[in-house]
Amino acid sequence: MNAPLPTAATAPASSLEWRNGFAALGPDFFTELVPTPLPAPHWVATSLDAAQQLGVPAAWLASDAALQVCSGNALLSGMQPLATVYSGHQFGVWAGQLGDGRAILLGETDGGLEVQLKGAGRTPYSRGGDGRAVLRSSIREFLCSEAMHALGVPTTRALALTGSPAPVQREVVETAAVVTRTAPSFIRFGHFEHFAARDLLPQLRTLADYVIDRYYPECRGPDAPGGNPYAALLQTVSERTAELLAHWQAQGFCHGVMNTDNMSILGLTIDYGPFQFLDAFVPGHVCNHSDTQGRYAFNRQPNVAYWNLFRLGQALLPLIEDVALAQAALASYQTVFPAAFLQRMRGKLGLQAVHDGDAALVDGLLNLLAQGGVDYPIFWRRLSHAVASGDFEPVRDLFIDRAGWEAWLLSFSEHPGQSNPRHMADSMLKCNPKFVLRNHLGEQAIRAATQGDFAPLHTLQALLAEPFDEHPGHDAWADFPPDWASSIEISCSS
Ligand code: AMP
Ligand code: MG
Repeated sequence: MNAPLPTAATAPASSLEWRNGFAALGPDFFTELVPTPLPAPHWVATSLDAAQQLGVPAAWLASDAALQVCSGNALLSGMQPLATVYSGHQFGVWAGQLGDGRAILLGETDGGLEVQLKGAGRTPYSRGGDGRAVLRSSIREFLCSEAMHALGVPTTRALALTGSPAPVQREVVETAAVVTRTAPSFIRFGHFEHFAARDLLPQLRTLADYVIDRYYPECRGPDAPGGNPYAALLQTVSERTAELLAHWQAQGFCHGVMNTDNMSILGLTIDYGPFQFLDAFVPGHVCNHSDTQGRYAFNRQPNVAYWNLFRLGQALLPLIEDVALAQAALASYQTVFPAAFLQRMRGKLGLQAVHDGDAALVDGLLNLLAQGGVDYPIFWRRLSHAVASGDFEPVRDLFIDRAGWEAWLLSFSEHPGQSNPRHMADSMLKCNPKFVLRNHLGEQAIRAATQGDFAPLHTLQALLAEPFDEHPGHDAWADFPPDWASSIEISCSS
């Protein structure tokens, strides 16, 4: 498709062995192609923590060779770039073939982490799109991937963000950027749906076997339901997805586009688009301006994930060959999600052990937060400090319904899960971040970056990398959103 790229001459990173395990699946699963070079690239941000996880030396990530690789202008020896094919359900409707329309998988390292460029140019799956990503949306993906990792939420990661003066047409003309993402795998539910919808059973089996052998070998073990590795796969993915949704709901994270092609087979948060962390706790909040029906409202996410798992179950059924086994595998979501969510909320409340009444305590609190539209991150952080100091006034100030708050606080203080306040507060401060990637913070970093000033972006990145620390002097970054925050409109167009 494109002209061959030069191989970057790079001593330090070339000590890594690059290969591409996905390529072994064969040509039915992807198209080999090289990235489209990005003109005059420059660094916008890098994650040294992601580099360390990948095994790439920090010095390399500062080199021009790395800049070229992370912009799609050069390859490292052993990389085998390709775009994968998948299909999916978008907004509840079968959308047919989609695929990596602007992402190119470069390869993987010895440690088994894959590296993918997002925004690296057209592929056979671009469907009329330009294959590019703009700086605005790429900053959001870069920051949020690394923020989620620091919060302990399963996610793809972002190694680097590069920019270019190359113009990209969206609602207005913007500039191009590339995010270098890493993950053990970028395989989505939609990869399975693709082969199932076409009755391509051998390919479906090849894909399932690849995922099991590589990521879930225990599915072939004695604990597999009915001795069926494909049912075990469905159950494992259901459980992983339940754990992921428990994280999202506890963190107040709205994904925004939970289409089946944006659901990771490893239960990772993937494809950051119009996502949002809640400011005020509004359960029905819809963060995606394009989602006019509110299909992906915050409080619908757990059910949407289950719906998506059913699409995966349907796709795997020709391999499972037993409807009852498939249904039982899916049903695990219904037990794991509520238990995992309650466990996350116990952590936020500083409750160390399981007690009757935990769920009622959490429900009562969430109702109160919803009634008052209370700021979600600030509530939790203030509650953590209040447990330490015994002064709950700053928390009470967040509520209009003071009597309701006092009643809940009494039930909390009398709850059998209470322990030494210092211990409780210590653990709460490790569950309830001070710094959250609120929309307005991302927006401020974007506005500065589009003017060529990356300092606010770097400050935000540093705060989000250690979100539970106090970072004296940065309280403004942990404050309530300004009035203009509610007018920010984020849509799928990126
Ligand atoms: P998303 O909603 O971002 O997950 O994307 C849905 C589908 O559209 C995927 O197949 C993407 O690869 C594709 N896509 C999104 N934006 C572009 C673009 N600018 N160029 C080509 N394909 C795109
Ligand atoms: Mg996507």
